[in-house]
Amino acid sequence: MIPKNYPTQLSVPEAIEIVRAEASRFESEEQPLLSAYGRVLAADLASQVDHPSCNNSALDGYACRAADTTHASEDNPVRLNVVGDVPAGSVFEGTINPGEAVGIYTGAPVPDDVDAIIAVEQTERDGDAVLIRRPASPNDIRPRGQDIRAGEIYLTEGTRLGPAQIGVAASMGYARLPVVRIPKIGILSTGDEVIEPGQPIRDGQVYNSNSYSVASLVRQAGAEPVILPRAVDDPAVLRDTLENLGGVDLLVTSGGVSMGKYDFVRDLLFGEGEVLFWKVAIRPGGPALFGRWQGLPVFGLPGNPVSSMVVFMLITRAWIDKALGSASPLPYHRRIVATAACDFKGAGFKEAFRRSTVRLDSKTGTYSVDTTGNQSSGVLTSMTQADGLAVVPPYQDVSAGDRIEVIVLNEGFY
Ligand code: AMP
Ligand code: MG
Repeated sequence: MIPKNYPTQLSVPEAIEIVRAEASRFESEEQPLLSAYGRVLAADLASQVDHPSCNNSALDGYACRAADTTHASEDNPVRLNVVGDVPAGSVFEGTINPGEAVGIYTGAPVPDDVDAIIAVEQTERDGDAVLIRRPASPNDIRPRGQDIRAGEIYLTEGTRLGPAQIGVAASMGYARLPVVRIPKIGILSTGDEVIEPGQPIRDGQVYNSNSYSVASLVRQAGAEPVILPRAVDDPAVLRDTLENLGGVDLLVTSGGVSMGKYDFVRDLLFGEGEVLFWKVAIRPGGPALFGRWQGLPVFGLPGNPVSSMVVFMLITRAWIDKALGSASPLPYHRRIVATAACDFKGAGFKEAFRRSTVRLDSKTGTYSVDTTGNQSSGVLTSMTQADGLAVVPPYQDVSAGDRIEVIVLNEGFY
């Protein structure tokens, strides 16, 4: 059933290269501003306006001529006649002569006759006049276009739209934004022993955790998970499921891709689909498979709960980011350097990813990394304790005190 030649025991970068080649950026669609939050921008956005739209005041206070206040001091305040008031949103139409000032408020346009602002805290009102106790400053005028200039690009294609980006888009005058369509990711857990949480459980059965941890990772990536009913280990049932997926852009399965007799996801993809790689030189996650089923890309994640999460984070995520056209570096690839607080065993020819806790030593300013304990790929609770994956390179062991790289896990939320 399994042919002799297929790409196997790839490194993570080799696997990612194959995966990225299988995805291309999805089409764009328009969304209202807030619905674009968390999405990936599908085009460069140039501003429609200057912001600020005119020279305006950075303070509540008085606008006047700087030259009138050069000698103002606590002991020798300058007295100016107040000839008007400019609240934000209005424009002062009159003239301001030497020796005069207008009350001005944050964001209000600065009249052409004046060139400086004095904060209300530095003044004292005296009927129709104001006493000014220090020189008024041109620095408290925000010049037109200080933040944003019409025609310039401030958000580029491929940017993931977080709170600041949504705000800037609004400042540029956009009510709707072009964003990349959200990929739909089918999630299919396989295994006779797998049952849904909430049901009574018998010995030998296991609650389906993979569909939910993986669906959460899909959401975190900015895609839409579609959880399919779990499939029993029966090639006919599995084939039927694959043939009736309906409308997903990618299928992610869990279980059924290792060396066992009942690993039918593997058999079906080798027999009736295409396998682009099977097995990656990593632990956990070694049996990972990637292929196609009638043109649909399929990831076969190993069933062990830690393995399925780690393979998704390291490799599957690359497909989604490519489909979204995300220009951000892949999360789960950023590494920090730490000192090993314990020995980390290697995994022979495989690159090993050990769940670990990372602490910053405030005295030395360096990180130290410790194991979460049992590294069995069935111990999913270790993933709740881990804030990093310590990376042990192939053919190496790391001893306590050695330098080690760690993938940071607690990022990518939005
Ligand atoms: P497999 O890859 O099918 O050999 O499964 C490996 C291990 O992962 C077995 O102990 C399974 O019971 C467990 N497993 C498989 N699928 C799931 C799932 N959806 N949720 C939790 N554990 C699973
Ligand atoms: Mg199984």
